[in-house]
Amino acid sequence: MNLPLDWPMYESPESARQARLCQHLRDLDEWHRTACAPYGAIARKQFARSAEGLSALPWLAVRLFKQHRWCSVPEQDLIRELTSSGTTGARLSRVVLDRDTAARQQRVLVKTLETVLGPSRRPLGLIETPPVVAAVQVATVQVGASSKLVEETRMPATSARQAGGQGVSLFGRTLERLLKAPGEIDTAAWDRLLTQAGEGPLTLFGFTDQIWLLVKTLKKQNQRLQASPQTVLLHTGGWKKLQDEAVSPESFREALSVYLGVSRVHDFYGMAEQTGSVFLACPEGHFHVSAYNHVIIRDPLTWKELPPGKTGLVQVMSALPTSYPGHSLLTEDLGYVVADDHCACGWRGRHFGIQGRIPAVENRGCSNV
Ligand SMILES: [Zn+2]
Repeated sequence: MNLPLDWPMYESPESARQARLCQHLRDLDEWHRTACAPYGAIARKQFARSAEGLSALPWLAVRLFKQHRWCSVPEQDLIRELTSSGTTGARLSRVVLDRDTAARQQRVLVKTLETVLGPSRRPLGLIETPPVVAAVQVATVQVGASSKLVEETRMPATSARQAGGQGVSLFGRTLERLLKAPGEIDTAAWDRLLTQAGEGPLTLFGFTDQIWLLVKTLKKQNQRLQASPQTVLLHTGGWKKLQDEAVSPESFREALSVYLGVSRVHDFYGMAEQTGSVFLACPEGHFHVSAYNHVIIRDPLTWKELPPGKTGLVQVMSALPTSYPGHSLLTEDLGYVVADDHCACGWRGRHFGIQGRIPAVENRGCSNV
């Protein structure tokens, strides 16, 4: 299955974007019905074929990938298995990648992040602890400095946290690990990073909770770092810990400006089961769909699509995976659509917010499949 990689990322009106994406996702649905028997069985049994539009296409509960390892290509074509880190004691999600899917994930991730980072590669600082960063550096050597996918070695398993860093590491001209321990800056590494940047900007990347931990430590020690102008900080992983401490996105941004000297900050939302297909937050702080993904909010009781402003379960769709049937997944996250088009940031298309996970998620079965 071919996926054109020249679709405009955030420029199409929502109706045109949905029409183009729907055509491809219908083909992808057909592909997986034929190639993956259990997916075909669920799709045939539970979803009417006559209905039109993205919201009528079949979906799977995301936790199915914790229970099953489903594949839509011959086993010998697989090059990697991706596992989600999950919470302690929880089962890991497992998705399998062939060369085509892995390449597509990388190329679309590059297109997405280039929207805020631009095409040139900058020095990259990972706000991560050493063990994770060590794994990321291996991956950087494999993919090289360019975004072109080169020969991959067989990797039995990659965690979602590593995969997040690996994706962003494509943007690193050089790479520095910035934490000695959680919350503790390695000042020598920070200085090396600034030297590498010279007069130019940096890219910083980390998980939201790790970055917050660092900011709190800097605050406690009354220490301020100053990133170079135009530095972009990307973060992901959700707001759970920050919400627990009643930290708003505004105060998070404010703290980043004070303690890291960074004013360009972009959150992104994504999951291991749809690697490469991330929803980037715009300068207004809303997550946007791109040319290659989609979000639908569903009523958790009726599964009907909810209108903008109503909170429900988040369904994510991705045009990317052909090696496993993960193109349409009902997550365990709660969210709401802000609007289709007309975001003040200037990007077009649907934009949305996330409100955390449904309560007591571990007790919930996959009642919708
Ligand atoms: Zn926006």
